[in-house]
Formats: sequence, C-alpha cells, structure tokens
Amino acid sequence: MSTWPSPSALDARTQAFPILTETQIARLRPASKLRKVKPGDILFQPDDTEVPFFVLLSGSMEIVQPDLKGERLIATHSPGGFTGEITMISGQRCLVRGRVTGAGEFLEIPAEGLRSLVARDAELSEIFMRAFILRRLALITSGFGNVIVMGSRHCADTLRIREFLSRNTHPYTYIDLDTDKTSQELLERFDVKTEDVPVVICNGRTVLRNPSTQEVADCLGFNVSIDQSQVRDLIIVGAGPSGLAAAVYAASEGLDALVIETDTPGGQAGSSSKIENYLGFPTGIAGQELAARAIAQAQKFGAKMMVAHSVVELRCKNRPYHVVLDNGNVLAARSIVISTGAQYNKPPIANLSRFEGQGVYYGATHMESQLCVNEDVIVVGGGNSAGQAAVFLSQSARKVHMLVRSGSLSDTMSRYLIQRITRNPAIELHYKTEITGLEGGRELERVTWRDNSTGESSIHDIQHVFIMSGASPRTEWLRGCVAMDDKGFILTGRDLDASTGLVPPSVWPLPRAPQMLETSLPGVFAVGDVRYGNVKRVASAVGEGAIAIYLVHRALAEP
Ligand SMILES: Cc1cc2nc3c(=O)[nH]c(=O)nc-3n(C[C@H](O)[C@H](O)[C@H](O)COP(=O)(O)OP(=O)(O)OC[C@H]3O[C@@H](n4cnc5c(N)ncnc54)[C@H](O)[C@@H]3O)c2cc1C
Repeated sequence: MSTWPSPSALDARTQAFPILTETQIARLRPASKLRKVKPGDILFQPDDTEVPFFVLLSGSMEIVQPDLKGERLIATHSPGGFTGEITMISGQRCLVRGRVTGAGEFLEIPAEGLRSLVARDAELSEIFMRAFILRRLALITSGFGNVIVMGSRHCADTLRIREFLSRNTHPYTYIDLDTDKTSQELLERFDVKTEDVPVVICNGRTVLRNPSTQEVADCLGFNVSIDQSQVRDLIIVGAGPSGLAAAVYAASEGLDALVIETDTPGGQAGSSSKIENYLGFPTGIAGQELAARAIAQAQKFGAKMMVAHSVVELRCKNRPYHVVLDNGNVLAARSIVISTGAQYNKPPIANLSRFEGQGVYYGATHMESQLCVNEDVIVVGGGNSAGQAAVFLSQSARKVHMLVRSGSLSDTMSRYLIQRITRNPAIELHYKTEITGLEGGRELERVTWRDNSTGESSIHDIQHVFIMSGASPRTEWLRGCVAMDDKGFILTGRDLDASTGLVPPSVWPLPRAPQMLETSLPGVFAVGDVRYGNVKRVASAVGEGAIAIYLVHRALAEP
C-alpha cells in the first residue's frame, strides 16, 4: 500500500492535480462504472448540472473554458488523474468543458455517489476536497470564470456585483471600462449602452444589464440543485458564522438541512478584513476566507445552500413550519434555526444613501481598500469593527481619520485594538466628533465634520467614508411569530420565563420548559447576533450554531 505524503511535502500544483494510487482507485471502483472513451468525446460542458466525476485509468483529457474568442486551456489529465472542482460538491452548474484527447478507459461516478463517498472516506475526502478548493482558487486568480463583469470602479452596482461573486468564491473576469480600450468593441457586440453598466455576461451568451444579485445568481444557476418541494428536517435562515456552523453540524449529523441567505454567506464576519481573536488562527483570518472554508465544509457534509434569496415571512401557526421567500416560493421544515444576525446602523446623515458604494462603505475588505490607496479616509465608530477597519485601512491609505462620538474608546473597544490605534501614526483620532455633511457629484468629494466639544465644523476633501457604527437585529420577517425584546432581539430559553419581566405569562405554549436557544415557538431556535443577550463574537455565534443542532435533534424526537 502506498503512503500518502503529508500536504506540506507537496507543492500547490501537485495538491491540485494529484495522481491516485492503485489502492485509492480500487476503493472508487464499487461506486463507479467503466467507460470507454475516444478522442473528441465531450464528457461535460459549462452549464451542465450533476456532472459525473471521472478518474482516468488510461488515455488523457483536457479541461478547457470556452470564451468569447474560442477556448482557453485550463488543465490536462493523465492516468491516475481525476476531474472536478468545487461544483462537484456544491451541486452548482459546471464551469468548464471536459474533452477526451487520448483513447482509454475512465471510471465514471455519479455526482451524488461522489458526495456520499466524500462523506464516508476520510483519505479520499481530503485528497478530493483539497484538489477541488485549489482548482477553484486557481480559476479565481487567473480569472477563468464563466462570467464577465464589465463595470467601473466609480459605480456602486459594479462593486455590489463583484462583491457578490467574490464572496460566493465564483471566478469571473473583470473588465474595467475606465481603463480598457478594447471593451467598447465588446459593448457594441452585445448592443450595450454605457448607462447599462455594470454589464454581466453569463456563459458567453446571456447579457444582463445592471442586474440584481438574484438575477446573477439565477443566470449562473447558483440554486439550481435545490429541491424546494420537500419537507426538510431543518431550514437555517442566514449564513453568517452562526448559520454556517449550524449547517456544518446539522449536515455532519445526518440532518437534511437547507441554508437560505439573502446575499452571500459570511454575514458581518465576511466584511471583516481580519478576525484575530478566533480560536485556532494565531495570525488571524479574513472573514471571507473563514466563510469560504465553512461553506466548503458544510457542502462536503451535504448541506444545501440557497443564496441571493431572503426569507420574508415565517408561517408559524402549524407544523411543519413554512418560510416564504422573496420570490413567493414557500419551503417547509420540521425545525428552524434563525441566524439572521444584525445589519449596520446608518447614522442620520443627509446624502448618506446617495453615496453608498461611491465613497460610503459599510465594510472594509481588500476590495474597498484598493479603492483608496494613498488617499485619506474616514472611519466612523468606536467599536471593535471600527478599530479593525482603521488598523487595516492604515496599511494602504495615506491617513485614517477615526471619528468617535464619545470621549474615549475604552468602553467599546478591545484593549489590543486601542493600543494599535493609539500607536499608529497613520491613524488620527477625533473624539466627540461626527459627520454633518457629505457632498459631491456622482461620487463623494467632500466631508464636513463637527467637533462637539468646541462646536466647530470643518470641511475636508476626503472621498472615502467607512461607517462602522453598530447594528440592529434582522427580525422584521418574524413579527407575530416569536417573542422579542423592544429592540427586536429574539428571546430564548430562560428569557421566556415571565419572572424575567421580558415576556407576559403563557408566552411559552408547552408543559416542558423551553430549551436553551429555543424561541417561544417550539422547534424554532435563535443563534448568534440576532438573539437577545448575544455577545457579538464570531466564536460565540459559531458555538451557538453548534449547540442549536444538538437541541434540534431533541425537538425533532418529540412526538
Ligand atoms: C467589520 C466587522 C468586524 C468584526 N470583527 C470581529 C472579530 O474580529 N472578532 C469577533 O469575534 N467578532 C467580530 N465581529 C462580530 C461578528 O462578525 C458577529 O458577531 C458575527 O458575524 C455574528 O454572526 P451571526 O451569524 O449571528 O450573524 P451575521 O454575521 O450578522 O449573519 C447573518 C446573516 O443572515 C443573513 N440574513 C439576514 N436576514 C435574512 C433573511 N431574512 N433571509 C435570509 N438571510 C438573511 C445576512 O445577510 C447575513 O449573512 C465583527 C463584525 C463586523 C461588522
């Protein structure tokens, strides 16, 4: 039997395109059928769903991606090699074409067969998952996507679409209309006017003009493999850290779980440039990377993920419960985990919404930081998210002005961040100061702020403002179904006891007491930042997601 080298002993290419040993191939045979292939055979195409997995016993094949000018070669496979990337696990549409170049015999395994094998066989799971993730990363870094985004760095909708694709780890080609001279030819080819930007071209065919994220998701078939008619064990609403953790534990423990996410998985943590206090990551981890890992992990165990759809209503009178989506579709589940978190507060500043994405941002990730290299920026807020953003932006911006409403940071920010901020010459703190005006044309050009200790206002030629001033729970879709506090945070477990003074007597309908994290609706749980008494940490959100699944099992076992 061959020994499997440790990952560190392999370079990235070898890990992305490993050659399976005879013993490993032997373990795949029972789940496969033998297929004789000849040169020119097309085994899969972009847009295909439920593409089978192939292992080459003899012969060869190439993986190419059709583009507007023909085909680009991505990889070649020889005996012992295997096909597939992350769509094998997510069930989303295939991105590439697989063509046989040398006659031979391949093992063919249906997509579902591969997914159950990955859940069973630890060694093969590690080889395949690592290869699939690395292949997806290679597609992203080389821009080998089945989608082209043509836009402008000055356009908020371009930023929205690029963030949506990046945060869903979907590879795409970006054409910057401000700098790319040849793009005019492309625009004319598809009869697109400049005012239609961003333009999204899916699979070289469908042209979307300034589409909604939902239209992009539909065009790329992100949710195509989800059966919406079945009654599931569990629906998880919201894919921030708490929802993703719930998905990993639910799926790994055999529950039939679906996660529904308004936008892209990752939640607030996904907008964090670096989370430094999450256990196990001593050098920190970008929120988006943490989310991407969690998505792959949840999908590996069989969780289904629906993106770009909001739950707008919970029908809670009868069981199974039903959730209503923004497109009117209704899905049923025996239990629900609510993990809809919180959304950024928007301070009452005139023109704020006019400049959103065009100078005003609510997250500070790599993408936003690239928009303000060597320029002055403002960070509004005195909490940990504002502190992190200031430290992160100080690495690329010329100067970071941090505007804090109160007179100190010590009540609201972790001590390690306060030290980094006060010792950083590129960050200037302005206490008791708030923005009173935003001005500009298409983009933000000037900011007025007022020092409330002196009453003095001053105008600054600054084009980038990062608002990080707290968040409110996203529970508007639950009104009338679960008990909440006066701010809309969901009450769970002991909070539902009338002795707390938070709820009237008899809000809980069963003779047994509510379980920890259980809402006033039996079998419906709330986790993370949406819950009354939450501690606003990734670790606690993840922990609650995991605990909730233990409690879901109990609730499902009830008569
Ligand atoms: C910039 C920033 C930096 C941070 N840094 C740190 C840090 O370093 N360390 C730390 O411990 N914590 C940090 N936090 C806090 C941490 O990110 C949150 O505590 C954590 O993300 C909460 O997770 P959650 O899953 O409960 O909710 P959220 O992260 O808020 O996720 C909720 C998800 O639900 C989705 N959703 C909402 N409504 C619906 C609906 N109706 N239908 C479908 N989906 C819906 C949202 O789109 C979102 O994706 C930071 C927060 C921010 C904003």
